[in-house]
Amino acid sequence: LFISIEGPDGSGKTTQIRLLKEFLDKNGVESILTREPGGTVIGEKIRQIILDKKHIEMNPMTEALLYAAARAQHVAEVIKPALEAGKTVICDRFVDSSIAYQGYGRRLGESVRIINEYAVAGCMPDLTFLLKVDPCIGKERIREEEQDRLEKEKMEFHNTVFKGYLDLEKLHKDRIIGIDAAKTIDEISSEILVHVQPFLEG
Ligand code: C5P
Ligand code: MG
Repeated sequence: LFISIEGPDGSGKTTQIRLLKEFLDKNGVESILTREPGGTVIGEKIRQIILDKKHIEMNPMTEALLYAAARAQHVAEVIKPALEAGKTVICDRFVDSSIAYQGYGRRLGESVRIINEYAVAGCMPDLTFLLKVDPCIGKERIREEEQDRLEKEKMEFHNTVFKGYLDLEKLHKDRIIGIDAAKTIDEISSEILVHVQPFLEG
């Protein structure tokens, strides 16, 4: 079972991932928790280049290709082997982040979906939880240093990213489960578990 968690900054992904992992552990389901670049040596090097963009102007397509390159390595080295070993994989952000941030936010459109088709090589999540929070409210919830980083990008950028997520939700109703992130932590967690349980029962 491959699960990804998506949503704008400050939507509570980290908290929900932790609770989901606890639930799987308690129920004897072997799982790994991962996030791009997934601790791969090559992925970490690519990440360094992406983070360096604070000093250099990075071309949006370069950024999209680097995210896709790191993802290809993450899939091949971490996600696929874990799934093949029968483990459940929980991934903090995946392809939908690229479509939302680079495709919509950076306005690269369709090209992002296409390059990522190559990157994931058919390895797509069975379930994606989209934690939906208005980007302005999300921003209020996160640490101050993180807020400074987000402020470099205009609110318009984050609203466009969110629009991308909502479009994806409509497009992939079978895979993406949108959850109102204004609900309480427990309510969101229960909603996630309701959708995960049928997969575990086989
Ligand atoms: O919430 P998290 O720590 O995962 O945020 C990572 C940040 O990386 C996002 O705020 C976003 O600016 C950036 N990002 C991106 N494109 C992606 C994934 C993440 O720009 N595909
Ligand atoms: Mg987080």
